[in-house]
Amino acid sequence: MPQTQTSSSAAAGRFTKQDFRYDAATDSYRCPAGNVATRRMSTDEYRKTIHVYWSSACPSCPLRTNCTTGRYRRLRRWEHESVLDAMQTRLDERPNAMRVRRQTVEHTFGTLKAWMGYTHFLTRTLPRVATEMSLQVLANNMKRVMKILGVRPLMQAIMA
Ligand code: SF4
Repeated sequence: MPQTQTSSSAAAGRFTKQDFRYDAATDSYRCPAGNVATRRMSTDEYRKTIHVYWSSACPSCPLRTNCTTGRYRRLRRWEHESVLDAMQTRLDERPNAMRVRRQTVEHTFGTLKAWMGYTHFLTRTLPRVATEMSLQVLANNMKRVMKILGVRPLMQAIMA
């Protein structure tokens, strides 16, 4: 999945988070003006730990109107955001990955959801849901093989 862009900054013509470079070694961001935004605080949001960064240079920055409507441009980073960064790097290296995904696995999930009537799993707790999902996938695979090979060759293959 590509990273989502939820900030209104781009629509307002201001710098987006993509304009800032994260440096894992120093746990800080380099901003478009070349200043360093360091980690200042952390908060818990929806059971996620979010680190917040800003630069002391913001109040006197000549680019501030391109960056923030406030006194400081604050950047928020999920504690495990490096996982998302790595995923985005892989996607950037394979620009057709989303197209391949749409052509290969997405229709399968659409079929499963249609079978379920676009509702929730019937079971609860992870092991039971995993079993329910496995049965759905098995049924889908069986139907696909029957469609491609036919029932008789499938039965012969199972018996062999
Ligand atoms: S406002 Fe702050 S974060 Fe934005 S470019 Fe200026 S110094 Fe960097």
